[in-house]
Amino acid sequence: MIGFQYYRPDNLEIASEMLIKNGIYTHILNGGTDLIERIKDETVKADILVDIKGIETLHEIDFCEDDGLYIGACVTLKDLINSSIVKEKYRILIDSMESIGTERIRKRGTVIGNICNGSYLGDTLTTLIILDTEVMIYSYSRGERQIPIDDFLTWTGTTSLKRGEIVRGIKIPYNGYIDGGFIKIYKNKNQLSIANLSIGKINDEYRIAFYMPGTTPIRIREVEEFLNGREVTEYDIYKVAKIAEKKLLEKDSFNLLKKEDIKQIKDLIKYVFLAFSKKPD
Ligand SMILES: Cc1cc2nc3c(=O)[nH]c(=O)nc-3n(C[C@H](O)[C@H](O)[C@H](O)COP(=O)(O)OP(=O)(O)OC[C@H]3O[C@@H](n4cnc5c(N)ncnc54)[C@H](O)[C@@H]3O)c2cc1C
Repeated sequence: MIGFQYYRPDNLEIASEMLIKNGIYTHILNGGTDLIERIKDETVKADILVDIKGIETLHEIDFCEDDGLYIGACVTLKDLINSSIVKEKYRILIDSMESIGTERIRKRGTVIGNICNGSYLGDTLTTLIILDTEVMIYSYSRGERQIPIDDFLTWTGTTSLKRGEIVRGIKIPYNGYIDGGFIKIYKNKNQLSIANLSIGKINDEYRIAFYMPGTTPIRIREVEEFLNGREVTEYDIYKVAKIAEKKLLEKDSFNLLKKEDIKQIKDLIKYVFLAFSKKPD
């Protein structure tokens, strides 16, 4: 039988202290869409759940051009999808958030829960990476730290969070108009995705990031460097797809990507960059 103690503190200090003072089976509960499923199927053991939704400051969304977008840990995916500021300034994020689960999941699930899972199935990760997101972390014993999301995600399914640390929110800089999209690669329909990819153009700078099992999410900087400052031609786009293919194969330590997956990814890369190159300024 599954049984655990449940606490709902109203400040971060107490929440973090509870994590430090209790054993490894004490977990933070946010939207619970992932954690509760894992407790039910017994892949996670839980003695104590510390629900952080009672902490008012974690529900804030804030934006200004100098500091960018701040998203508190408990802001739901649905609230972000419906936020006028996200629609207007960070449209690319909506693509990845809308692809998460169902309406019911998005109503409870959070973008912070998505990154804390650290899973290659986490749909927001590659988009947050190309947006240069910073993760803001609090601990009762260590104080505050802020790190780039690339350093936060340490390996498939793991993060750099230490015992007692809580992600209080994320910060996404504002660098002007962002264009681009998010793509999931499925092995076949009705199955979980095996990889995801985000491509963006921020002002005139291209960004591309990719995530699959057996690696950390990666920016394909070779593609970005090749394209930046260049008047992109159709030939360049074929070259870009080739560079990306080389990088993906290098990173595919589990040999997950088959010929047809690589072809699908290359076609998608070509399609998106072609759309960029044809778009009037
Ligand atoms: C049916 C179903 C479909 C799904 N489909 C998708 C999908 O298509 N794509 C996708 O990416 N995900 C999917 N998910 C997974 C999940 O819904 C998302 O990852 C969601 O964003 C998790 O957010 P949450 O707030 O519910 O996290 P929770 O379940 O509350 O927490 C997830 C993990 O993060 C930790 N955590 C949460 N908040 C913090 C914090 N502030 N500081 C430190 N640690 C924290 C928790 O302790 C837990 O280990 C699906 C889940 C279900 C059940």
